Amino acid sequence: MIKVNCSELSGTLKLALAEAISQGLEGSGVALLDGDYVAIDTLSGPAIGAIRIRSLVDSYLSSRKDASVYRTEEKGESIIVHSSVPASAQEKKVVEKLPPGLLQCPDCGYLTTSQEQYEDHLRMHDLMRGVAR
Ligand SMILES: [Zn+2]
Repeated sequence: MIKVNCSELSGTLKLALAEAISQGLEGSGVALLDGDYVAIDTLSGPAIGAIRIRSLVDSYLSSRKDASVYRTEEKGESIIVHSSVPASAQEKKVVEKLPPGLLQCPDCGYLTTSQEQYEDHLRMHDLMRGVAR
């Protein structure tokens, strides 16, 4: 199974990348985010080559405004996405684009206008991280 290692990407970007790959596969497979990896599940269909997945990753990244900071590398059954800026800086750009009053979770991109809900949400991540440990 082809995997895309996106450990250098922010949470929001990982999700967006998985979604873009899923769309690009047009039903021949599904891209699932699993921690730092996007795994390509073709269900019972034929395997999808790394070249096709890489081209979907490349076309998503090149459609972004900050396209120049990313590059991809193929290593066996894995495609690795490298970023020359840290994940926190990728998030900052997203947050700056938000309309006033909107709060966005840096981990998953969850949006809310309520400070209270936002803090509850962050606490939920802390709890989940605690469980994972
Ligand atoms: Zn979140």
